[in-house]
Amino acid sequence: MSLIISPFGRLLNLLKPRNEIRVLAYHRVNVEKDSGKGSEWNVTPERFKAQMGLIKQGGYEVLTVREALEYLNCGADFPERAICLTFDDGYRDNYTFALPILERFNLKATFYLVTGYIGSDRVFEWIRDSKGMSDDVSVSRSEFMPLNWDQVLEMERRGMEFGSHSHSHRSLSEIDPGIIAGELGESIRELEKHLSDGAYSFACPFGVWREAAEKLKELVQGSGYSGAFLGKWGALKKKAHPYDMPRLTIYGWDSLGVFQRKIGGSYDWLHFLYSGWHFLRTSILGKNRKQEKGFG
Ligand SMILES: [Zn+2]
Repeated sequence: MSLIISPFGRLLNLLKPRNEIRVLAYHRVNVEKDSGKGSEWNVTPERFKAQMGLIKQGGYEVLTVREALEYLNCGADFPERAICLTFDDGYRDNYTFALPILERFNLKATFYLVTGYIGSDRVFEWIRDSKGMSDDVSVSRSEFMPLNWDQVLEMERRGMEFGSHSHSHRSLSEIDPGIIAGELGESIRELEKHLSDGAYSFACPFGVWREAAEKLKELVQGSGYSGAFLGKWGALKKKAHPYDMPRLTIYGWDSLGVFQRKIGGSYDWLHFLYSGWHFLRTSILGKNRKQEKGFG
């Protein structure tokens, strides 16, 4: 009898929903205008729509980061098949392309803003650098422009949530704690000035690693944030530290099959590959500890 029951039990165990939330990290959602460096951070609107359709069809429950943190902090079981949708940087295309698709599927998302750029009409500096653009590109390359505060407020009224992605998007892995505190403080003050709700989480630009993450956890908490993503890869589990939660980046080149496997948990193991790569990079090759953008 046990010969029959044991494999059956193991199968049931495999089918049992795992107590995890997968937090997906997006950047741009835009009609692709070039395929050069950095284009992997753009998911086309068609692809994004198909991905949101899969989430809906799959019966996933989409939470905001604020809601996920409430579960994490009170120790309650996460809902079955839970997902958070997050967007880094604050591109105008999040309003133009992502918002209508999210609304079409009745989904909520959390947007992490580089507050120093919002409403500035300046193309993000790292985009200018990576694309070799001149300073005066605001009109010709509007697909890379930041959101303005009117758009942010409208998105908030339509049910979207916001958090901080620092004030100027500099790497926080190796700079002075005073400068980091300034970045964190200035950003949360901007959010509090413009938006209605006070519980803001933080997503670290570029991500930080090991000792830097330990220091940053305290600084983020001390600056009044409710939680943080510092660059870890993987699924959010109940034992996670609220100020160092993991995410899974969605790339422009992810096929729908890859996306489906990512939200189903098959790509969580990449965390180990990623840790190994960083160990190799920092310990053996002696490179600095700054993470590559996209893992956080
Ligand atoms: Zn960023």
